[in-house]
Amino acid sequence: MIKLVSLDLWDTLITDKEDNERERDFQRADCILKMLNLSDEYRGKITDHFNELNKSLKYPSTENEWAITPETQLQRLFRTINVYPSGEQFLSTLKFYTECDLSNPPVLIENDVSICLEKLKENYKLVLISNTGRTPGSVLKKLLEELKILNYFDMLIFSDEVKMRKPEPKIFLTACEAFHVLPQETVHVGDSVLMDFNGALNAKVNPVLYLPDGNPPATPFIRNLFELREAMDKNYDKD
Ligand SMILES: [Mg+2]
Repeated sequence: MIKLVSLDLWDTLITDKEDNERERDFQRADCILKMLNLSDEYRGKITDHFNELNKSLKYPSTENEWAITPETQLQRLFRTINVYPSGEQFLSTLKFYTECDLSNPPVLIENDVSICLEKLKENYKLVLISNTGRTPGSVLKKLLEELKILNYFDMLIFSDEVKMRKPEPKIFLTACEAFHVLPQETVHVGDSVLMDFNGALNAKVNPVLYLPDGNPPATPFIRNLFELREAMDKNYDKD
């Protein structure tokens, strides 16, 4: 019997409007150049770093653990471009870097996300399991509050806070252990085959792929969050 549902955040509950991550990176680079008094020649190097960061976030591994927190991301950037900010400069850059999402926020992926979560909450414990990037869990929490979906969750697991990332099985097991449920009594839903679907499978948690369109690379999958309950009943909760 399924007792707990964990959900991915980015591109499962919230998503960016077209180009806003690129816009934010432009603003982040601007802020770094301004705060550290750097010439515009550094912009290219900062952009290269953001590209490397994106790859590290897409394919988490032990070699790119520097990408787990915004602090270590910035430290690596400054080392790479050979710039050594004062403590104060570092902190003000970090503040802008991490809070950029608040002024240029993502949106709910579907209009009815809160209705779906409310329905799920009637029968299951709900846990959010999110790999964070430039925006840490503390800021994402504020965003979830603004989007009015924070209170549906019994627990929030952000990679920068627990210092582990999907697809590591132990991040999924953290949720199970917190509520004393077995992985087999848990369903995880998310849009990434690598991080959500296969990650959950490796932890023996039941996976559901969130796939609004396109050919399904794995099953079971759902096209929208309303289909989740039915997919769970059909595939994992037969008794
Ligand atoms: Mg995702």
